[in-house]
Formats: sequence, C-alpha cells, structure tokens
Amino acid sequence: MSSQRDRVEWQLHSWKEIDGLDRDESLLIIPTGAIEQHGPHLPVDTDIFNANAIALAIAKESRSPRTLVLPPIWWGTSPHHLGFPGTLSLRNETFFQIIRDVVSSLKPHGFYRFLIINGHGGNAGIITATVSQLSEDLGISIPAYSYWQSIRDTLVKVGESSIGGMGHACEMETSLALHLRPESVDLKALRSDIPDEKTPWSCIDFRQGGFLGIPLDLKRDSREGVIGDPMPATAAKGKTIFDAAVEVGSKVVSDLAKLSKAELITSRY
Ligand SMILES: [Zn+2]
Repeated sequence: MSSQRDRVEWQLHSWKEIDGLDRDESLLIIPTGAIEQHGPHLPVDTDIFNANAIALAIAKESRSPRTLVLPPIWWGTSPHHLGFPGTLSLRNETFFQIIRDVVSSLKPHGFYRFLIINGHGGNAGIITATVSQLSEDLGISIPAYSYWQSIRDTLVKVGESSIGGMGHACEMETSLALHLRPESVDLKALRSDIPDEKTPWSCIDFRQGGFLGIPLDLKRDSREGVIGDPMPATAAKGKTIFDAAVEVGSKVVSDLAKLSKAELITSRY
C-alpha cells in the first residue's frame, strides 16, 4: 500500500488524515478544465485531464509545502463549443458557485493555501472573477493560472506549426495526449484547421496571443472543432511540454509556500 505521503489526491484520504495536515504547510490545488469537444481526434475530457495530470505530478514532486490535489472540477464554461455534441457547459454562475462551495467547505477547518491550475482557455475570465469575489466574500486570496501561460518559452521552442497552430485540439494538446495517453488519440482523424484571423489583432495561439478578444463559436469558426494544427504533434513534444509545466508549477508551489498567512488573507478579515 502506498504511504500517506505518496497519495496526493484529496479524496483518497480519511478525515483523520486530513485533520492531521498542518494548515500553514499544506497547499491545495484545484484543477479546472472542461468537458468539451476537442475535434474529431481527442476526447472531450482533454482539458480537465491535462490540468489534473499536471496538478498531480506537481503535488508528487512537492515535499514542502505538502501539496494535495482537490477533486478536479470536471466542467467549465464552454458555450462556444455547444455547437458540437459531447460538450457539457456550466453557466458562469454555476462554475463560481462550485469553486465557492469547495473553498467554503475548507475554510472553517483552517485551510487557506489554494492554487487553481486551469486547463481550459474559456474559464480564464470566470476564474479571474471568481478569485476576486472569493477574496471579498471569504477573505482568501487564491492564486490561479492556466498551465500554457507558464510555459510559453517551451511552446515557442518545440512548436513546428505556423502561428495559429496552437489553439484548440492543436499541436500542444495533441502532443500532450500522445505523451500521457496515446490510446486516446485517433490518429486517422487528425486535420489541420488554422483559422483566418478576423482582425490582425486577434490571433488565437498559445505562443502569441493577440490582444483583441472576440468570443469564439467553434461551429462557426472551425470546420470540425479544431483551431490549430495537430499534424506535427508528437509524444516527445508532449513530454517536453508536460515536464516543463510540472517544473514551473513546482517552483510556483514552493514560492507560494513562502507567502505568509497575512499575505493571503484579505486585509479586512
Ligand atoms: Zn483544450
């Protein structure tokens, strides 16, 4: 049987084990993602699978602080993918309420160190709004990031597709899938679909995002739900991308551990 320290999934612990955690030395990761169409070649759980896999690997690396991964929030806000079957989309308020209820369940037991690791671009806006509101409502400041933001240099280095090739069900996500669970990729269904950007300012690519956001509708803006180019994806690239995300995430976790409690609690609390 694995030792208690090897188990990083919150839900695998008893309440006694959880009660024994040092609140100042424990950091709880909330993985967020989506259940949404990912083209004809990837499963609909791609975003939450990746966020959870990265969070689990970071937690296993981390010794100080003790890092546990809360049950992943499977669903995200994906209205722009509802044109394809398979997508399960939450309303913004539902997403907010789920995160709020998770944190509200833990706060009375003294937990205050959290980190949201996000795997779905469509969640970015509501996550910013959520952590801002929770800082106001619960008095806890929760850091959050989307994993690709932390590894832009690596994506630029390994990417072979032209700009526009790393957006959705793309070179990055398909490479990660080929590394983490190759059986989930339907290689016969790979199709490149790099969109014509609507303006010169609105590029959708993890390596070079444009500053002008225009809400997407994948049914309108893609042929089969892909924005990017999965053709040059490889398992080796996926390993490089995954390892980079875990390495940076581990540094983030150890730096967050250096913040005092006073630095994470809203001043009025
Ligand atoms: Zn995705």
